[in-house]
Amino acid sequence: MANNIQMGKTLDGAVPGGALTEKWDQHRFDMKLINPANRRRFKVIIVGTGLAGASAAASLGEMGYQVEAFFYQDSARRAHSVAAQGGINGAKNYRNDGDSVFRLFYDTIKGGDYRSREANVYRLAQVSNSIIDQCVAQGVPFAREYGGMLDNRSFGGAQVSRTFYARGQTGQQLLLGAYQALERQVHAGTVKLHSRNEMLDLVLVNGRARGIITRDMVTGAIERHAADVVVLGTGGYSNVYYLSTNAKGCNATAIWRAHKRGAYFSNPCFTQIHPTCIPPAGEHQSKLTLMSESLRNDGRIWVPRKVGETRNAAEIPEAERYYFLEEKYPSFGNLVPRDVASRNAKVVVDEGRGVGPLKNGVYLDLSQATARLGQPVIKERYGNLFDMYERITGEDPYSLPMRIYPALHYTMGGLWVDYNLQSNIPGLFVIGEANFSDHGANRLGASALMQGLADGYFVLPYTLPNYLAAAKLDKVSVDDEPFRAVAAEVNGRTEKLLSINGSRSVDSFHRELGHLMWDYCGMERNEAGISKALELLPALREEFWQNVKVPGAAADLNQSLEMAGRVADFLELGELLALDALNRTESCGAHFRSESQTPEGEALRKDDEFAYVAAWESTGKPGAPILNKEPLVFENVKLSQRSYK
Ligand SMILES: Cc1cc2nc3c(=O)[nH]c(=O)nc-3n(C[C@H](O)[C@H](O)[C@H](O)COP(=O)(O)OP(=O)(O)OC[C@H]3O[C@@H](n4cnc5c(N)ncnc54)[C@H](O)[C@@H]3O)c2cc1C
Repeated sequence: MANNIQMGKTLDGAVPGGALTEKWDQHRFDMKLINPANRRRFKVIIVGTGLAGASAAASLGEMGYQVEAFFYQDSARRAHSVAAQGGINGAKNYRNDGDSVFRLFYDTIKGGDYRSREANVYRLAQVSNSIIDQCVAQGVPFAREYGGMLDNRSFGGAQVSRTFYARGQTGQQLLLGAYQALERQVHAGTVKLHSRNEMLDLVLVNGRARGIITRDMVTGAIERHAADVVVLGTGGYSNVYYLSTNAKGCNATAIWRAHKRGAYFSNPCFTQIHPTCIPPAGEHQSKLTLMSESLRNDGRIWVPRKVGETRNAAEIPEAERYYFLEEKYPSFGNLVPRDVASRNAKVVVDEGRGVGPLKNGVYLDLSQATARLGQPVIKERYGNLFDMYERITGEDPYSLPMRIYPALHYTMGGLWVDYNLQSNIPGLFVIGEANFSDHGANRLGASALMQGLADGYFVLPYTLPNYLAAAKLDKVSVDDEPFRAVAAEVNGRTEKLLSINGSRSVDSFHRELGHLMWDYCGMERNEAGISKALELLPALREEFWQNVKVPGAAADLNQSLEMAGRVADFLELGELLALDALNRTESCGAHFRSESQTPEGEALRKDDEFAYVAAWESTGKPGAPILNKEPLVFENVKLSQRSYK
């Protein structure tokens, strides 16, 4: 372990007692309620209007709380959830193919390589069916099969078809559903929306979260907002790697500033690399594009058997194609989980079997499915994805196999929360991708949308009122000293960023950070590489604060300033991610330490040492955090080596 890490305490996840199947029902009964007439006395700040934040704001507004929702886009329905393509899981068992709540729970725990809390994952599987009902009631246009029932398709890590979808635009359709529910509350006067507002800090009063400091991104005004409780639904931190499938605006500032105010940050090294993205086309690219995992239902992944092959795909006969996933994992084939598919793609590309102009991809080939099902069927299922691919690469995927390669996509780590989705700071709740809660070391496809909506529609509306009912909250005002002090710090930081006036752009620092993270803490990690990253990161951060150039002014629309603040936070978060990766000497899920693998090259866990959630506490000194641990207890599943053969 790095010697500047201090050992902290053992955490309690506040999991209720009783049988796994009864915990949530019993807990819902045990939690305190607030009378409808009293709810309007409480003010709730929700940062984020993605699927997690919008569903929470709509639900709490409908219940009668006064909700203020903040987000940095111009419209709530432009949150990054809009980009989700493939689908959302639910244990309806419409296909009658053996699904159940327990199987969804089991697949998710196993898919996460046994690094998540059993009780949370079971609850997620339990409420999955209600999510589908809720969305259908809102009018979300899920795909249907010939009899009119909702259709399902398969995603990685499962042998049943449980993924509900709306072509390749599931996130957009779900978000429109949540957005309508949100707008209904705006009209009812229970929800107030603050667009183009970026949360820059969290305010604590007497140890409780009581407000936030924001910057109006149009006028530059720094504003103070007070409430009884604060909820963060601010998404993931994949953009610490610079290139990712996330929108360029996605950032970690809200959760990072909360971390610096005392919230524990869990498992930052659990970062997911998605196997089916369009490979980078050159050095100057600023983002990567996902090709939905759903394509693996009908697509076959292959590379030429011959190392250094120069023929194009059509000229390579069947016998000379290496369907590496189907050969290595006959049971799951192309539908192995993301971590397994990604690592295997890296292996064949590293062996010199890569395809495309830069030899940095593998083929995802739907030609056989097209011949079997006909082009209209393929077009109906994946048409918009094919169009997107053609626009980006200039190649027609109906006549040439697509080229794909793994890219950063999702972050399983995030702020630590207990079973009630409350962080260690009383009154600070964290939902959706911003928390660490349900996916362990590897998220299965179509389960992020499920988790975001579970948190917002079905968990927080119980656990947040329970907190409010029990807490003795003092009256606070934005003129109180804690608000003034934090706002002054935010202003000071802005002034500092603008005053450096160095010679390097914010983007060049971000790009260098991304390279460093990908090279040393990417798909495969080892002690020497991570240690190198830990040497380089503080130096890069130091240079940033000496030499960054942020043009423009504070009291104005200033995108360079926005980016500078976010990159400054990524530079610190990157270091914590590397420390976490160094500390966890086992491989598990997406965290692959080359020192810890089975003879077949699969991730080898060390359950005796690492069956815990790492919950890092800031000491104020970057690179010297405290490691708190929440032990993971498994009473309903047996920990075993994951196998998809
Ligand atoms: C290309 C792509 C495809 C995907 N496809 C699928 C899929 O098919 N199925 C699936 O289950 N998952 C999918 N995922 C993952 C899934 O989309 C996300 O995990 C999920 O949508 C995150 O939702 P969220 O509500 O937690 O956050 P987001 O949707 O990212 O929303 C974050 C919100 O927080 C706000 N915000 C952030 N920081 C601040 C701040 N400092 N101040 C103010 N506001 C702030 C933003 O404005 C936004 O409103 C996909 C992800 C990507 C990148």
